[in-house]
Amino acid sequence: MSTDLSEPDYSKIHRINLPRIVLVGENLLNQIRNICIEQNFGNALIVTGETTLKIAGQETLDLLVDGGLQANYTLISDATRETVDNVISKIKGFSSDVVLGIGGGRNIDVAKISAHECGRFYISVPTVASHDGIASDLASIKGSDRPYTVKAASPLAVVMDSRIIAESPYRFTASGCGDMICKAVEVRDWRLAHRENNDYYCGYAASLSLMSSQHVMERASIIRARTQDGIRTLLEALVSCGVSMSIAGSSKPTSGSSHLFSHSLDQIAEKPALHGEQCGVGSIMMAKLHGLNWEAIRDSLRTVGAPITAEELGMGREVIVKALTMAQSIRPNRYTILNKHKLDEKKAAELAEFTGVI
Ligand SMILES: [Zn+2]
Repeated sequence: MSTDLSEPDYSKIHRINLPRIVLVGENLLNQIRNICIEQNFGNALIVTGETTLKIAGQETLDLLVDGGLQANYTLISDATRETVDNVISKIKGFSSDVVLGIGGGRNIDVAKISAHECGRFYISVPTVASHDGIASDLASIKGSDRPYTVKAASPLAVVMDSRIIAESPYRFTASGCGDMICKAVEVRDWRLAHRENNDYYCGYAASLSLMSSQHVMERASIIRARTQDGIRTLLEALVSCGVSMSIAGSSKPTSGSSHLFSHSLDQIAEKPALHGEQCGVGSIMMAKLHGLNWEAIRDSLRTVGAPITAEELGMGREVIVKALTMAQSIRPNRYTILNKHKLDEKKAAELAEFTGVI
């Protein structure tokens, strides 16, 4: 027990950091300037890539400068430790108060980690809706052999311009739906881990994640039609999942056996597909293992236009079978349905065949 009475016992305190401002709507880039002015920021650094600079980065920079802020940008092309260190030295060099991640997962992850490590605020400005990292406090960084997850900060603000996202290549949006639909399975993995492995479980975080999956499944056809309503449903679901991770203090409400399958593919496939595409296909098979209505999951993925077979992922039968057999060992301390059904090659092939994946 702590003898210092002024110091709370953090082992007994569950701390939750959430995004303070979440904006969804059309033509929102000028809102970033307003947020920066509201917060008395004098200097902003934009972390973006070559394409996303044209889509939203340059316009945001001009708006910030018009608003009287000092603003700079830095272009990145990967999410390695070296890139994060470079961005940190730019943040310090420019004395930036706030770091804006503008673009897809990579730019957002690098901005998130860099800002966190030098104690600056961070604003998330996704230009695609391909996965749920846009509002979470976890980030993924490329290690020497595999990516690893690091705890970072929750964004001060998440600014999601539904017009920019509706105009992005649809494949990213469908991938985001795959990352949402699979939560129907991932939450079951977490419940199982709680029941059988005594894992910490938070029903509220689980419900948020599950609800995201239900909303996207129910509204799959309007998302496919790329209506503003449909895109907003997906964006709100992505934010809810980010919040569920912050509440749980872990990725467990959003990442179970379907994610383990996707991580395996990232390691062995010659050309991995998008994260959410792989998780979606994984969830069809993992739902079958859980005894869930796997056909409903497959049909929602099909309606939304996400891959449902190995062929649509651009992968051969052997890769799928191998990924299934190695999935459980990829993160051995994450307890999922794969701990109960040890998949050897034969069982893995049967599962993938039964569900029509191969
Ligand atoms: Zn995911």
